[in-house]
Amino acid sequence: MNAVLARHADLASRLARVVPAAEIALAAPLIARIEALKADQDAVVLAHNYQTPLVSAVAEFTGDSLAMAQYALQATAGTIVVCGVRFMAETVKLLCPDKRVLLSAEEAGCSLADSIGVEAVRAVRAACPGVPAVAYINTTAAVKAEVDVCCTSANAVRVVRALGVPQVIMLPDQHLAGFVAEESGIEVIAWSGQCEVHTRFDAADIRAFRRDTAVTVLAHPECPEPVRAEADFVGSTGAMAKFLAERRPPRAMLLTECAMADNVALQCPDINFVRPCNLCPHMKATTLERVAGALEGPGAPIEIEPSLAARARRPIARMLEIG
Ligand code: SF4
Repeated sequence: MNAVLARHADLASRLARVVPAAEIALAAPLIARIEALKADQDAVVLAHNYQTPLVSAVAEFTGDSLAMAQYALQATAGTIVVCGVRFMAETVKLLCPDKRVLLSAEEAGCSLADSIGVEAVRAVRAACPGVPAVAYINTTAAVKAEVDVCCTSANAVRVVRALGVPQVIMLPDQHLAGFVAEESGIEVIAWSGQCEVHTRFDAADIRAFRRDTAVTVLAHPECPEPVRAEADFVGSTGAMAKFLAERRPPRAMLLTECAMADNVALQCPDINFVRPCNLCPHMKATTLERVAGALEGPGAPIEIEPSLAARARRPIARMLEIG
């Protein structure tokens, strides 16, 4: 073990469960460089659950979108580096307007967030007067500014129930909207967006796998309904991690982005993961090199025009009040 890893022995031994030793050794100098940059710039790193274990290794916090937003709110560091995609960095900037917020891979967008624009939201709202609009956190700041409240996959059902109305507009993910309608019994008017990663799972493949192997199947709510119907549990990445930490099934299949199983495996080494996963190219734009590069700058900190930010902040604040 080299000198850097010797100082991070616990990290190295945990990573060794999911990352080849040679890869850990190669990454060690870069991890040390990032740690020095963070200390020098009063920075913390937030990583989404879909980041690789090596990227998560330099993060003060790894979690789902809701947990990332809640962590950002109480962070005291002057700079927050977001290892995820642009809407996540925008959300952090909206919550922490006085901080320098960096997106490690500046080009990392999200095809789901890009599936709806401001004009489309206005058209849907005009067609459904009086119906509250709920935007998934996977939307641009401009779209958030047009709605009443935001939600994440972790709290979508809670948020919609809290509105206390018989009908809501939910955008942009049609499958999350379907999941919320099933769980809440509330009529949901959905937009047609879908996540390019979660729509690739296939119910027939899961049934075929189950014929030969006993496995606990966990699906993200962004999966289509026939896929969710095959699952033993449906929930956000944070809810999946909690379910596995508590239940400890001997074998689990996670129907979500590939890195999720690697990250949970760090916490639950006794679980054998079947990996029929799909990669998100946007999430995978982030590497350790990009994290170091963001801190070394000059880069482009996230900026949101103040009046737009004020309107976009309101639905996020309302979501956080609901919890
Ligand atoms: S996994 Fe889907 S929703 Fe998440 S960033 Fe990738 S494309 Fe967007």
